Amino acid sequence: MSTTDAPADRPAAGRPPAGSAERCPGCRSALAVNERFPTWCPSCEWNLLPPEPAPTNRTPRQQRAAERAERREEAARRDVRERSEQVFNLVSAGGSDLRDGSTTAAFALAGVVHLVSLTVLLLGLGLVTGLLLPGWPGRLLGVIALAVAFQLRPRLGRPSRDGVLDRTAAPALYALVDRISEELGAPKVDSIAVDGEWNASFAVLGLRRHRQLTVGLPLWTALAPQQRVAVLAHEIGRCVNGDRRRSLWNGSALGALVEWYRMTVPSPTRTQRGLIGVLVVLAELVANRVLWVLNRAVHGLTLLMNRLWMRAGQAAEYRADLLAVRLTSVADTRGALTALLHRQTFETVLNRQRTVPPRRTGSGRDATPDLWQSLAEAVRTVPPLETERRLRAAARLAEAVDSTHPPTDLRLRMLTAAEPEQHRHPVVLDSGRAALIEAELAARRERIAVDLL
Ligand SMILES: [Zn+2]
Repeated sequence: MSTTDAPADRPAAGRPPAGSAERCPGCRSALAVNERFPTWCPSCEWNLLPPEPAPTNRTPRQQRAAERAERREEAARRDVRERSEQVFNLVSAGGSDLRDGSTTAAFALAGVVHLVSLTVLLLGLGLVTGLLLPGWPGRLLGVIALAVAFQLRPRLGRPSRDGVLDRTAAPALYALVDRISEELGAPKVDSIAVDGEWNASFAVLGLRRHRQLTVGLPLWTALAPQQRVAVLAHEIGRCVNGDRRRSLWNGSALGALVEWYRMTVPSPTRTQRGLIGVLVVLAELVANRVLWVLNRAVHGLTLLMNRLWMRAGQAAEYRADLLAVRLTSVADTRGALTALLHRQTFETVLNRQRTVPPRRTGSGRDATPDLWQSLAEAVRTVPPLETERRLRAAARLAEAVDSTHPPTDLRLRMLTAAEPEQHRHPVVLDSGRAALIEAELAARRERIAVDLL
């Protein structure tokens, strides 16, 4: 399939006016036009972010509110960007002490979260047993407090069972991952899950601290073999570089905060008739007001926690990238990081495939080869100019997975800034082993394609 006549990855808004199609309206530089992507100017960044069509039916008041929200977002982005650059400078200068003041503060804050949960639990136990308040009202309150304590319990996460490949089903994939763990001095993973995300992740879950690696098959498909090694090395590398943000103590506190937040979201007030209806509505208004205050407080705590973890988290990400370089090369790690920018292309391919009527074969729908081939082809043919646009757009939007991940452009800069040492025995995924792994993934490929389309 030809890709040049494919629909644009993003509707080509903001084209230069007709007749000047090859000159930038901002600085008059020559522009390269590719039908598949927005035209933009790398010299003055004209149309770096093609304008979104603004909703036309806004009242002046809604318009002003939207503008205020936009300004607030912009300020928040600038703030994140500035702090990210500080961390970058610190890490590239080699002085990223993960045990700084904010890490200690985050540790203490996690302690406060656990203390609140413990207090509610003890209160519940004291009431239920009649120690604090004899009689049935006390016991009733105790039951409620215990129910709340149950909801507030630290969340340790649970390993996913969906899409898990066990060792016997995927020996070549596990062998590769084990080899990477060994080179990095990390313990072996307990399970590998394969899903339909444009991502890869690693988590330590549950009381038994189950180590689960999750590989997004779409991203995996778009990567060259050594880039795959780089992605795996980054994920596994995160647990050998002292990233204590994910430890039992801190991770479970963050998990609890997320649960508190969910519990305190005020529910919309329903209209009711009659005197009782009015009383119910009034009670709900009061309850919602209280919930709102609690919810804002939890929100603030979560932000504070994330902010305290930011430096340690971002420094850990940079270190994981440098570990990936150690097992592969700067070019492979760079390629893997750049691929993360192409989620948009993945979504375009998905949308295009969804509109194509499925070809019927004897066994029914057979969309699998088409989806994966189109995806690899579409990502392979994103021109460097468009990659550059996405990189700069991400930098301008301070786009990162969250503030604990540094922005991609800074991660790419770090690969050269820190002059990482190259490993003498890099982990090589040769074509023979790559093919074995592909065969192990074949069943998941079919399943995920059906789920995605
Ligand atoms: Zn220009």
